[in-house]
Amino acid sequence: MRCAILGLAVFIVAGCSKTRTRDEIFTERAGLPQVFMGLKTGKQIVAPASKGVFVDPETKDEFWPTMECTNPDCPGRKGSEPVLFVVPRAEVNRGCPHCSKTRNLKNESSSDKAKYASFVSPYELPETKARLKELSNETKLAAERDARNQRK
Ligand SMILES: [Zn+2]
Repeated sequence: MRCAILGLAVFIVAGCSKTRTRDEIFTERAGLPQVFMGLKTGKQIVAPASKGVFVDPETKDEFWPTMECTNPDCPGRKGSEPVLFVVPRAEVNRGCPHCSKTRNLKNESSSDKAKYASFVSPYELPETKARLKELSNETKLAAERDARNQRK
């Protein structure tokens, strides 16, 4: 009997999590918290990812989604805190501004360029990263369900 109840509970939970459409999952994904940083002030704000680049009406500062440098020897590193920065569109190829102070950008080998590029990625809050993984699995299940339903 206990197994039957447990089985029913698992069925209900699993059933509920599979009822969302891919659009609903996408909407949640766009609303997950992300860290934005002001270009002038360096101030950090947590806002939904869907906010994109925005201007703070008070300070007129432009806020961009943050990038992270994972170079263990990054000059910007302070303890275990992530090294966050913003890269305005015009500076996209320069990578981490802290690392670029110690790099010889003009005469750098292509393997060094690739190494520094591999250190840089969009920053995701730990809770956002965990939720994105769950949503990725849910999206996969929804796609499989949609494919099954189309075949019927
Ligand atoms: Zn760096």
